[in-house]
Amino acid sequence: MTEADARTAELAQRYGAVRDRLDAAVAAAGRAPGEVELLVVTKYFPAVDVARLIGLGARAFGESREPEASRKIAELRAGPSGDAAVADAVFDMIGSVQSKKAKSVATWARAVHSVDRDKVVDALSRGAQAALDAGERTAPLDVLLQVSLDGDPARGGVPVGDLSALAEHVTTSAGLRLRGLMVIAPLEGAAEQWMARTAQIRERFLATHPEAGVLSAGMSQDLETAVAHGSTCVRVGTAIMGRRPIISQ
Ligand SMILES: *Cc1c(COP(=O)(O)O)cnc(C)c1O
Repeated sequence: MTEADARTAELAQRYGAVRDRLDAAVAAAGRAPGEVELLVVTKYFPAVDVARLIGLGARAFGESREPEASRKIAELRAGPSGDAAVADAVFDMIGSVQSKKAKSVATWARAVHSVDRDKVVDALSRGAQAALDAGERTAPLDVLLQVSLDGDPARGGVPVGDLSALAEHVTTSAGLRLRGLMVIAPLEGAAEQWMARTAQIRERFLATHPEAGVLSAGMSQDLETAVAHGSTCVRVGTAIMGRRPIISQ
């Protein structure tokens, strides 16, 4: 077996195992099959791995850095596997967006999961509107508001008390569509406790924004807990891709 075949086999095994975990979690929560999207987080991994995963049936991917994401997606679309399945694949931005990179992100992202401040909303709105005008995208940019569960500003996320105002800002911004919330469970404390808190926050949020039903929650370690508490999208990197390479900045 060549090295390339070995990597494909490894990804097939790991992707299959995570799909099985997700299906089991959805069933255990008494939810309908297909209710939870699996976003494969491919940050730091090359376009060829994304192509392999598309070949295995994966369709939605998460990236966290510009310009790494732009380059990878361009390479993928230009590559030998430039077929219908590649054209069908969607890419979400899950990392924090710098305002000056928002324009570029708006050309490729289906959704941005990590919106947590007004300045980013404005930059993404301008970028999305420009991309729509230029025919670089056909649908508005979906926005998830990243909620800070522990109030630590270093981790990103909007404090719960500021959520309504930020949501209002998104709904009144051209080119954007408010779709829901995103959380990253803090490392300290039990995932169970953080996800229960997330479910409470979301229930209150849905009362004023019933159209924003997406909940992006759960990663390699805690996807079962997130699904039990209503996640509609899990973002899984390590459990599928393996340990991320160390990249010098
Ligand atoms: C890297 C990353 C993930 C994936 O985390 P794993 O623990 O590797 O599954 C999910 N969400 C965000 C926001 C990330 O940056």
